[in-house]
Amino acid sequence: MNTTAANLVTPRVGDAVFGDSIIVRDASDVERASYLVTCREGHLLPVTDLTATLGSDADLSCPPGQDWRDLSRSVRDRFHQRREELAPWLRTSSRPDLRLLAFLHVHEKELTARYAPNTREGFTYGGLVPVLEVRAVAERLAAAGYLTARLFDCFHACPHCGSARLNVREECPSCRSPEIADVRLIHHLRCAYLGPEPDFETSDRRLACPKCSRELRHYGSDHEAAGTALKCGACGFSGSEPLVGFVCMDCSSHFDGERAQKVRAFHYAISEAGSQFLLAAGLKSSAVSPVLVLTLPLDLIRLLNAACARDEMFSLAELAYANEMKIVASKGAEVFDASRKQLVADLIGRLGAQGRVVQGARSDYVFLASEDAASTQERLNKLLSGCVARLRANLGVDLRVFEKADFLP
Ligand SMILES: [Zn+2]
Ligand SMILES: [Zn+2]
Ligand SMILES: [Zn+2]
Repeated sequence: MNTTAANLVTPRVGDAVFGDSIIVRDASDVERASYLVTCREGHLLPVTDLTATLGSDADLSCPPGQDWRDLSRSVRDRFHQRREELAPWLRTSSRPDLRLLAFLHVHEKELTARYAPNTREGFTYGGLVPVLEVRAVAERLAAAGYLTARLFDCFHACPHCGSARLNVREECPSCRSPEIADVRLIHHLRCAYLGPEPDFETSDRRLACPKCSRELRHYGSDHEAAGTALKCGACGFSGSEPLVGFVCMDCSSHFDGERAQKVRAFHYAISEAGSQFLLAAGLKSSAVSPVLVLTLPLDLIRLLNAACARDEMFSLAELAYANEMKIVASKGAEVFDASRKQLVADLIGRLGAQGRVVQGARSDYVFLASEDAASTQERLNKLLSGCVARLRANLGVDLRVFEKADFLP
């Protein structure tokens, strides 16, 4: 259907106004399409391109004038099937990492980098991506093993503003001016003087040796060519090799190769672990509460889903650190990180095989099989009081315990 009517509503698959496909009929639809893929389930809809401008961003491209309805139906059916493989909470989650994984799964494609000289980064993943800051989200997912990265290219970027729009140039090693030229060298055989040709040129266009002032008459007998050298028009320096320097075309900073940031750009594809996560058995039937999973690490969601699928009891404790800001401000981030790391290691040691500790971005989590919330709380409180006594910083550990019922819709 036409997206025109839908550009101000929050779409949901199956909505009468939204339909089950995004159709791009003209240039103004492209902007709407890139908005729609960031809303609700818009990222799980096929994009049909009737403008022949979207290339691989579209799932179906039809040149103007050709009938696309039959083709579009089979694409829509395929997308419907792929969506159905995902749990409802996963399809509607607003978590950027889950949105990106679901998007790549349903569209059956890679997140493909390509050159974009009109951007500061120099490359892009296209306009139809389901999340803001898609590069950072993909990097985190790759670091956790849910995406695999394949190198696209290496870029140099400005150390001041991060732009990859750089002018790369040869410069004078002495004054860094780009006003340099290769000049021929002349060797005066008689006095053995060697110098750049312009130094031998007289005002009446003859050649004379700057050292001994004798005129040079016969090439081969009194003088010879001796290769070329670098000559700087700004400071007069002459030497053999120029240096390479960069000028940022966005902020005008000047720097050399060593100070330039090296940025590696990757293509990303779903890894085996990523697919397993999306399709894990428990995911379809026993959906985890979408509110609670907003910040949980994916490894933990996988554990929870597996436990739900096997119909096992479990409880989950969240360790939040109330004093993080205070410690970072007074003693530095390293002290906080070190204390937190020590607490986690200590806890892992004390729990042994009876529990799993999963580290999150802001909180850490303890997953315990077959325990109810009250006994988990009591047991962890005891364990924690032993652990925190040995820490350098008082982390202000806040313990919150959930049980299985908290995760079921
Ligand atoms: Zn810059
Ligand atoms: Zn001479
Ligand atoms: Zn110079």
